[in-house]
Amino acid sequence: ISQPDLSTFESLESAVRSYCRAWPTVFDRARGSRMYDENGRAYLDFFAGAGSLNYGHNNPVLKRALADYLERDGVTHGLDMATVAKRTFLRTFQELVLHPRGLPYKVMFPGPTGANAVEAALKLARKVTGRATVVSFTNAFHGMSLGALAVTGNAFKRAGAGVPLTHVTTMPFDHYLGGAAEDFSWFERLLDDPGSGLDRPAAVIVETVQGEGGVNVARPAWLSTLAELCLRHGVLLIVDDIQMGCGRTGAFFSFEDAGIVPDIVTVSKSISGYGLPMSLCLFRSELDVWEPGEHNGTFRGNNPAFVTATAALRTYWTDATAMEKQTRAGGRLVEEALAAIAAEHHTEVKGYRGRGLVWGLEFHDRGRAARVSRRAFELGLLVETSGVHGEVVKLLPALTITADETREGLRILSRAVSET
Ligand code: PLP
Repeated sequence: ISQPDLSTFESLESAVRSYCRAWPTVFDRARGSRMYDENGRAYLDFFAGAGSLNYGHNNPVLKRALADYLERDGVTHGLDMATVAKRTFLRTFQELVLHPRGLPYKVMFPGPTGANAVEAALKLARKVTGRATVVSFTNAFHGMSLGALAVTGNAFKRAGAGVPLTHVTTMPFDHYLGGAAEDFSWFERLLDDPGSGLDRPAAVIVETVQGEGGVNVARPAWLSTLAELCLRHGVLLIVDDIQMGCGRTGAFFSFEDAGIVPDIVTVSKSISGYGLPMSLCLFRSELDVWEPGEHNGTFRGNNPAFVTATAALRTYWTDATAMEKQTRAGGRLVEEALAAIAAEHHTEVKGYRGRGLVWGLEFHDRGRAARVSRRAFELGLLVETSGVHGEVVKLLPALTITADETREGLRILSRAVSET
């Protein structure tokens, strides 16, 4: 079999078929909020590994912890064994995350990626309730494996499955309703009426902010009404906090502001803090119905990831208030800049929105966001597009970004909008 010649960018792109199209260069190094390509050109990073690097690239504290662990030949595999690294992570997670928030969860390691956590959550909800249907939302994104894709509201991505994706009912996400947050009477009617066409669902799965779906922000009152409704009708509530968790919206969990306690929570991306694969499925102890071996996998407990995750929690979440303040302060800088861009380009900008340090700038012209992202790249800034049609420029810097770096990136963004 002949191998592609990867000496040119074009052949690399055809081999990996990914972000290369927006960012046509070959990256090599990264530190903090900067990435460097193989020619040494620096880029300010407002992408943060798709939200997997909330503490920046090669965070020195996490790097030290990892290097020390490897240096002393710590266990590196990801199997189900009890290890010191796993026990230390679990204790730290309990002490710094679950206990202070009064969250009653058991923690399981469903596999290396976010989609694995979603699959586990869906399997668990279906097994516990003995029901098949899951309710999900328009524009939702939960991952690319078949179960996670079935609850994803994106026709293009669903088409990749090649088979019908069943046992899911899609409801409109808050962002598109525009009515009173409390008004779920349409959903309640479906739940009440067995002839409505909606089978009694096992669970509702929701993101508090749809990251991939276009930075669509659910109002806290909408989320708490949804949670109440689920409780009243015996439907489990799954919050997918894979992108919005680990401090992205300010609080450690993005649902804290809404005052809700989901039955199941999925966490991944920034939990290891270092970009190492790791995911968690958190669930109420009554839902602990799996026998040992009913859900397993080779890479479901990555020990080096436990080490960096523990270091990240100790460094950033011993004082959650400081972390939250810093994130919200960064968010205010972004919001001000987006307000200025929206005012200057009011005929072209459809809107901007966000929470904490995740923001979206939406254009009327769907192709514009991609042009802005490409121009920003040329000017030295990495920003991704999001939304079902890629109509939103998504700003997702590391939570550890400095105010000066944030301002620098926002100046580049503003210039990129003016020049496209
Ligand atoms: N859920 C949400 C909310 C996500 O944003 C993502 C990834 O972007 C996933 C699930 C899937 O995670 P992964 O790509 O690690 O499988």
